[in-house]
Amino acid sequence: MDTFSDSTLELADRVSAVMMPTYGPLPLLPVRAQGCDVEDASGRHYLDLAGGIAVNALGHCHPALVEALTRQANTLWHLSNVFTNEPALRLAERLTALTFAERVFFANSGAEANEAALKLARRHAYDRFGPDKHEIVALERAFHGRTLFTVAVGGTPAYAEGFGPIPQGIRHVAPNDVAALESAVGPATAAVILEPIVAEGGIISLDVAYLQRARELCDEHDALLVFDEVQTGVGRTGTLYAYQALGVIPDILTTAKALGGGFPIGAALATAEVAASLVKGTHGSTFGGNPLACAVANAVLDEVTKPELLANVAARSAQLRRGMVDIGSDTGVFDEIRGRGLLLGGALAAPCAGKSKDLQLAAVDTGVLTLVAGVDVLRVTPALNITESEASLGLERMAAAARTMVGSS
Ligand SMILES: *Cc1c(COP(=O)(O)O)cnc(C)c1O
Repeated sequence: MDTFSDSTLELADRVSAVMMPTYGPLPLLPVRAQGCDVEDASGRHYLDLAGGIAVNALGHCHPALVEALTRQANTLWHLSNVFTNEPALRLAERLTALTFAERVFFANSGAEANEAALKLARRHAYDRFGPDKHEIVALERAFHGRTLFTVAVGGTPAYAEGFGPIPQGIRHVAPNDVAALESAVGPATAAVILEPIVAEGGIISLDVAYLQRARELCDEHDALLVFDEVQTGVGRTGTLYAYQALGVIPDILTTAKALGGGFPIGAALATAEVAASLVKGTHGSTFGGNPLACAVANAVLDEVTKPELLANVAARSAQLRRGMVDIGSDTGVFDEIRGRGLLLGGALAAPCAGKSKDLQLAAVDTGVLTLVAGVDVLRVTPALNITESEASLGLERMAAAARTMVGSS
């Protein structure tokens, strides 16, 4: 396997010599990319179905984003929130016009957007009902980021292990279990936080009836409904935000990943009534609303709100889903294809259980970049503008990787 050549070993040594051991990067060094094509240091090309973890919504180096970034880079880089700025104002005006929300708080990542949302939800409950109404109800297997509050709210206990004491007052329930949600939400609940599709946790779509019940329970108990759309947002599931196709409207929504198309930015969106609780001095960020990030995000919104782009998400989703179903029936590697839009997961069948990483590595060898969602799901989150022929090529290479897993050729 050429991915484990000498140069790869050298790369692993260079990484471990200077980087904290937080990650285990794949055995290639990407040096340039365009659209859905990634080239590594040895000149080898890969078809990108990973999209920087649902970030590169328009592929790599999209000309409209390059133009927005370079134009802004020659105009105004950074001011801090001691000032406001035109790109941030314009982005907030557009996000509020395009969603239920009326107010925006800008951050730089998904974790920070969720941190802002969770702090806002607690502060709003505190302002109206006092300190006892502070509980957060969240899902097992949920992922909301890596700050201490967001790992505590997230549903993977291992991510919080050894970092305690962690924030308290958080309850976890199994996804799509209505009865469990009904018993967890009560007078002490400040907020329920949900990913419309539990992404990192295995691409589990929440049922519309479950989301509706969450909305009702929040209304009954004066709690806020928070949708973490960090991964599902910005066109990923076929509408600008996933909630818009589900008919359930949250009080707070978080967005990041694809919002900057690869430039770091995140945001918490809320109604005016809720947002009023984050009064002057209660929260902040040095870089949040940075003109470079906001200029790029404005260019992302220009493209992602085009009907033809959203139509491509639906068409390529159907194509990739069909192709992955076929790979499953031909090789026996997948037994179910999950997700919506261009957030898809192939659930590994019993013989390959726990081997998502092996399949991902096999796919690198066959020339396609994918992701995992836990040990049992291979995930793809390609650029929303991926073409039909690129998707076909990706599927061919995924099929070749799947065949190596089951030892057939
Ligand atoms: C990626 C992700 C986050 C965290 O975003 P970062 O930018 O890595 O902090 C939060 N929530 C969801 C649903 C995500 O997919």
